[in-house]
Amino acid sequence: MAEKRKYKKRYCKYCETKTDYIDFKNVSSFKFSLSERFKIMPRRLTGNCKRHQDMVTIAIKRARQTAMIPYIVDRQNVVTNPFEGL
Ligand SMILES: [Zn+2]
Repeated sequence: MAEKRKYKKRYCKYCETKTDYIDFKNVSSFKFSLSERFKIMPRRLTGNCKRHQDMVTIAIKRARQTAMIPYIVDRQNVVTNPFEGL
């Protein structure tokens, strides 16, 4: 393999835990699908299935509206682990 892949194993983490509903109030449930700048990770990187990626997207957008997670992260505020304080 020529290129080094950051996400080597591609499987749906939500299918593995048999998640039927992703609660937007439970931020840790969709932390796999957020980058360190709180952007939604694309499905090609996380390996989520279509069904769970749609649920994650809805949950993250709801969480943003309810100020559980920020819409944007300033350059100064970027931390290595954004879920440390949660
Ligand atoms: Zn899935």
